[in-house]
Amino acid sequence: MPKMGKRCWKCKLGMEEKTGEMDGVSYKYYGCPKCGEEFLDMKQLHDIADRYKGLRKASKVTVSKWGSALAIRIPKEIVVKQKIHEGGTTIIIPEKKGFKVIPE
Ligand SMILES: [Zn+2]
Repeated sequence: MPKMGKRCWKCKLGMEEKTGEMDGVSYKYYGCPKCGEEFLDMKQLHDIADRYKGLRKASKVTVSKWGSALAIRIPKEIVVKQKIHEGGTTIIIPEKKGFKVIPE
């Protein structure tokens, strides 16, 4: 399928692909440079749906004290899926909101 440019239904101007953020989920959309009209195509809508599905798999964990540091438990499901091992190392990347943990 050829990639077609989207046009604003009001101004008939070509829309620009932009990135927005909603509830901590970033998404792509088309925005009109003139009137600010926003439009999402099917692919973009599916992307958003997938990201929200990913969020629903999120687990709520309690922060505990471990010596002078704080610790969070990694749920078994994630341990198995991500192949995390006791004594192994992970990389913590701070993000705008929260952080990402990547097992090595
Ligand atoms: Zn417009």
